[in-house]
Amino acid sequence: MAKLQRSPIEHDLKPFKKTLAQIDSFAASLKSLCDDELRAQLQSLFSVISPPMNSDTKAKIFAFVAEASNRLLGMRPFDSQMLAGLALHDGFIVDMQTGEGKTLAAAAPVIANALAGHKVHVLTFNDYLAKRDSHFLQPLYQFFGLSVGMIQAGMSGEQRKKAHACDIVYTTAREVGFDYLRDQLVHYTQQKVLSGLDVAIVDEADSILIDEARIPLVISGDIHQSNDQLTHIATVIKQLDKTNDYATDELSTSVHLTESGSRKIEQQFGCKNLFDIDNLPLLTSVNLALHVEVLLVKDIDYIVKDNSIKLIDEFTGRIAEKRRWPDGMQSALESKEGLPVKREGQTLGSITLQHLMCLFNKVSGMTGTAVLAAQEFDQLYQLKTCIIPPRKPCIRIDKPDRVFSTKAEKTIAICNEIASIQRTGQPVLVGTSNVRESENLYALLVEKGIECCLLNAKNDEQEAQIVAQAGALGAVTICTNLAGRGTDILLGAKDTARNLQVKKAGGLHIIGTSRFESRRIDDQLRGRAARQGDPGSSQYFVSLEDKLFNHLGGDGLLSGKSDTGELVSSARISKKIAHGQRVLEGANLDRRKALYKYSDLVEQQRQVIHQLRDEILLGDGAHQFKSKVTRRWQSLSTVVSDDKLNEALNIVVMHAIDKIWVQHLSEIDYIKEGINLVEAVGTSFMRGGNEPYHVFVQQAQQVFEQLLAELKAAVVDLFNNVAIDENGIDPNSELFAMTKSTSSYVLADNPFDAVDKRFIASIWKKLRLR
Ligand code: ADP
Ligand code: MG
Repeated sequence: MAKLQRSPIEHDLKPFKKTLAQIDSFAASLKSLCDDELRAQLQSLFSVISPPMNSDTKAKIFAFVAEASNRLLGMRPFDSQMLAGLALHDGFIVDMQTGEGKTLAAAAPVIANALAGHKVHVLTFNDYLAKRDSHFLQPLYQFFGLSVGMIQAGMSGEQRKKAHACDIVYTTAREVGFDYLRDQLVHYTQQKVLSGLDVAIVDEADSILIDEARIPLVISGDIHQSNDQLTHIATVIKQLDKTNDYATDELSTSVHLTESGSRKIEQQFGCKNLFDIDNLPLLTSVNLALHVEVLLVKDIDYIVKDNSIKLIDEFTGRIAEKRRWPDGMQSALESKEGLPVKREGQTLGSITLQHLMCLFNKVSGMTGTAVLAAQEFDQLYQLKTCIIPPRKPCIRIDKPDRVFSTKAEKTIAICNEIASIQRTGQPVLVGTSNVRESENLYALLVEKGIECCLLNAKNDEQEAQIVAQAGALGAVTICTNLAGRGTDILLGAKDTARNLQVKKAGGLHIIGTSRFESRRIDDQLRGRAARQGDPGSSQYFVSLEDKLFNHLGGDGLLSGKSDTGELVSSARISKKIAHGQRVLEGANLDRRKALYKYSDLVEQQRQVIHQLRDEILLGDGAHQFKSKVTRRWQSLSTVVSDDKLNEALNIVVMHAIDKIWVQHLSEIDYIKEGINLVEAVGTSFMRGGNEPYHVFVQQAQQVFEQLLAELKAAVVDLFNNVAIDENGIDPNSELFAMTKSTSSYVLADNPFDAVDKRFIASIWKKLRLR
């Protein structure tokens, strides 16, 4: 019983069903009304709405939404959609399968919240869906007198501000995050684009709230061109001899120079001992260049498009726009590929998506794969998951995995399977694990004369179009992992006769070319098939050489191998895969929680700074500094108005705060590096053997307090030296320069995290030997 009570999943839909009955009885009375009467009744409802909204009013609003949706969009929300809407309104993460109509399900809670005076942000999976969904629902929202805005990457500040000012805003979480960070840097209130974060409804919630939770959004000073040395290093590394100059470990997760390699580097750069402490910067760059050259593979880890490096999202297989690798790695990669090297400027501000979501007063979400992430939603956000059963039972046939001993054998079997399915007319969607694999498979199929489409990060602008065709008779579509999250695959593409043909052929068949590290991601791919009670099927192909088995080991699984290399698919293998996925998911959750601990302290400090800055921006917080600068103030006051002087002081204080924060962020990185070092070396000489996290807290707090203490002196110094005339501070002054041109990006995980530690440890040992 105790276990049940603590379950992160809510199974009991009775309260929602009760409200649903209320809605239905009220909605029945609306059917006979003409449009004008409907509007009049709605308006009378408006006049009584004042927060908090009671359940009767809520039911009425839901009923109006149902009726209006029927009239304006030609769709009456199904009961399942109303239940989902009610659960969203109550702050649940709603688990509702693909194709059940989550977009429309969200409309009622959006409207109910907006009518109660809350600003509602609907956070979609990507720009395309923000546009599609806001356009789809706009007539409905307007019927209720609500304004809708939509934000896409690349929009101007003006456009963003206008959109955020609307009652309802459709955009992605990262665009909100970037707006939030930029708002922290403005010098005048009217430059802020956000007008409050209140209610968020998150679509594809597992992707945004979990998979992307720990990704930091970063805003930095403009990216500058640099640096010849990196190009030189990359060239030297390329010339090293694979067999003698460096060595990789078994799984190719790390690489290091051998004696001969080190000597070659020393010759090329004219330094005596590469491992001398004075050469640490060179050694670091060389090490990065070596990792990037040997371990990062083009078309798997990244692609080159439009003359720049594009990272690929591991969960979606899409180009991760604006994502950069940390530290020097991005630059090293650019050098490797002979591209212009861009260097990130100073970090001006940063926030993780998880912390961003915490800035909303209320968060709820929806996705087709919430159940498997229920524990994470609960632990990371204290959000409960609610399962809405599909309108028609899902009749998808999930065939048991087919297991092969080698990748090559697996690939042959996949090609044969696709060919034989295509002959039956059943459309096939093939999910591969990376761009290169998708291209290889595509090439193989074309060679065999099988007509097919390729959808991966290189052509994802055609996504909607390709996905729309994926359900056509005899279609074969090769895609990377989850390309197409959120877009609907119609069987036979809208044509009724064709639709019947495809259904007869068995609906859409999904082939996964390997299991992912998380079952949730596997299930996302399966969920593309058999939507809304359609027929459909799915099957995964697995080989013991797949990445997943790196962690699991394939020992003792090889018995009963056939000529084609296929193993008898046994319960043992399935169990092993399921176990491996659970272990990895658990490890990932632990890692997320650990990282959260570190970033949480910085977030708390950021909020202190933010509040301080807002007091200056919005109020008269600069007042306390005035008495410190009386001499300059008085000497200027003969020519400069008090208003202008106040404004100048405000700007000076804000600039000083920004500078402190930039400095603080770089100190934090420095502290983290130090702690990594200590962890790597495995000694606990630092502060008498304290836990690394406690050392971090102590040092980070100390630095923060020191910096705050220096604020006053910095303000006085700046104010006394900056040029001020009757117009105030010159707009071209360096005080504005730091924040004037910024770029925003998402910081990717360092793929060599563990390796870095080993590398640091090895240098440390060498240094200590001297
Ligand atoms: P999900 O996000 O759950 O995968 P979507 O919101 O993309 O699903 O909707 C899937 C399809 O179902 C869309 O084509 C949509 O227009 C359609 N649809 C949704 N609700 C209804 C409804 N009440 N009546 C008819 N069609 C609907
Ligand atoms: Mg959707």
